Amino acid sequence: MIYPVVVFGNPVLREQCRKVEFGSDVKDLVNDMFETMYHADGVGLAAPQIGKDLSLLVIDFYDFVEEGRKRQVEMINPELFVDEKSQFVSENEGCLSLPGIQKKVFRKNKIRVKYFDRDWKEHDEEYEGFAARIVQHEYDHLFGKLFIDYSENATIQKQLKQIKNRIIQPSYEIV
Ligand SMILES: [Zn+2]
Repeated sequence: MIYPVVVFGNPVLREQCRKVEFGSDVKDLVNDMFETMYHADGVGLAAPQIGKDLSLLVIDFYDFVEEGRKRQVEMINPELFVDEKSQFVSENEGCLSLPGIQKKVFRKNKIRVKYFDRDWKEHDEEYEGFAARIVQHEYDHLFGKLFIDYSENATIQKQLKQIKNRIIQPSYEIV
């Protein structure tokens, strides 16, 4: 099932997410999130973006991770740890919930994340570079944080207003 994507202005994007109950069946939800993400041409999607305040995100790393590593990853109840010694790097980011907006964001280049997959198997992994950036971006969603919060917003006020007033219509359905 493809969900409409929640865009800026909807309060669910600003909520602190609840932990998913350990052992609960989230397979359909995970599949639906991947389907919604691919339909909207995204590389990551967090549960609040389909209107659910749950600690759950999905990512397709494409070629952003080294060969041999899993490309499609769902992270349930993730816990992120930044490598304090790693440097901050700045790259452009976008978000399905902020269609049309791109901004440079400083993020740590290296992170570690612990999470459960859909079978409730625990993982403890490190990511670097753009893969680390995607994880940090999606993880922020679980705490009501958006990438536009990192920078001076004056320049994008007009765009935010357009999203709120539905003047911007992306190729995917929004709510
Ligand atoms: Zn996002």
